[in-house]
Amino acid sequence: MSRPLLILAKSILTMDRPTPLEDGFVLVSGHRILQVGKRADIRRSLSARLLDLKDTLLLPGLINAHCHLDFTSYKGRVPYRGRFMDWLKGMGMRTKGTAPADFRRSVANGIRESLAHGTTTLCDSATSWESWPLLRRSGLRAFVFPELLDIGQDPAAYWKLFQARLREAVRQFPPTETFRWGLGPHTPFTLSREVLKAAARSLDSGRDLPTSLHVGESRDEGRFFAKGAGPIAEVLKRLSPDRKYPVGTTPVRYLNSLGWLPKLDLGVHLNVLDEKDVRLLAKNRVTVVHCPGSHKFFKHPSFPYRRLRRAGVDVCLGTDSLASNSSLSLFREMRLFAAAHPQVPAREVVAMATVKPAKALGLGSVLGRIRPGSWADLIGIPLRGRGPGSAEKVLSHRGPVSFSMVHGEPRLRLTS
Ligand SMILES: [Zn+2]
Repeated sequence: MSRPLLILAKSILTMDRPTPLEDGFVLVSGHRILQVGKRADIRRSLSARLLDLKDTLLLPGLINAHCHLDFTSYKGRVPYRGRFMDWLKGMGMRTKGTAPADFRRSVANGIRESLAHGTTTLCDSATSWESWPLLRRSGLRAFVFPELLDIGQDPAAYWKLFQARLREAVRQFPPTETFRWGLGPHTPFTLSREVLKAAARSLDSGRDLPTSLHVGESRDEGRFFAKGAGPIAEVLKRLSPDRKYPVGTTPVRYLNSLGWLPKLDLGVHLNVLDEKDVRLLAKNRVTVVHCPGSHKFFKHPSFPYRRLRRAGVDVCLGTDSLASNSSLSLFREMRLFAAAHPQVPAREVVAMATVKPAKALGLGSVLGRIRPGSWADLIGIPLRGRGPGSAEKVLSHRGPVSFSMVHGEPRLRLTS
């Protein structure tokens, strides 16, 4: 193994200590952080390569807890005119008309944009199955959630095919420290009860697959499960007329009735919730992924952050896809969140893109913080004489990062 790397930076926001470390260092050996401290405390006898980032604020690499790299090229191309189901239909049509090579181009552009803006771990909901070979080689730490969606199809045949495809992919490319497979049922209404149940059961057999599922996103979804009416009911009646969905419930309670909540790691969106739903999410330790840019695009009901936190539900951030957002930068998502929730301290907002998603992915002990023993996922932003680093300065950062390292490998270094 090569000599350790000693990284120096003006400020380090470790997310492990209560305040940033001034004139600090991080010692990296292989994939891990060996030591963190003040420059004055570096042992004289230390033999290490040196990387002096000078006027930089160093922080843990950002974790995008929800994204669809497939749709990077759809930016501005799927208009939203106030009916969520019409937008989903527009997405379905565009997806059908996209060639595999175009998906690959889209994924590659999304990876580049993510890395440039400080993302070091990315959770990708994969519709086309074109993203994972690129993500494996991308230098990003990746979780790929192949998406399940069976509207208009025979559930049993669909599930059989999906399972065989996933089993083969996992056999050929087993998970590593930087690449993991997951399971991504699309929504409680775009999947049949049979497939949702079968997918939940499949997780009982000791398969270690993290899960991600869009739920409670729109008013239309709430109305569909409350009354069996509205735009979602109209479309489902046409495309899957034999399907039976419950009424007088909520998307969260429906999922719970199918055994999903104890198995759900990332509940994406959850804009539409009642108090009982919040208690169920807390009881089952579901982490909620909020996507501020996408939330703004659809003008969803205001996100119930305070209610969720009061009940002890963890919340983290995602970008969703560029079909409903204008950037894959988590700095922008943090800024949008902070603007909508000004009472939340800046450090808590940064934790939503570092500490919280790491915990939700079961990697809280090795990811999301700069501390000895953690994987070396680090990013830097220029301070340019703006005084000491702080969480507030992270939120005000615009543009690309100046430094990025994933699993001990430098991925990006810009000199200004
Ligand atoms: Zn999404």
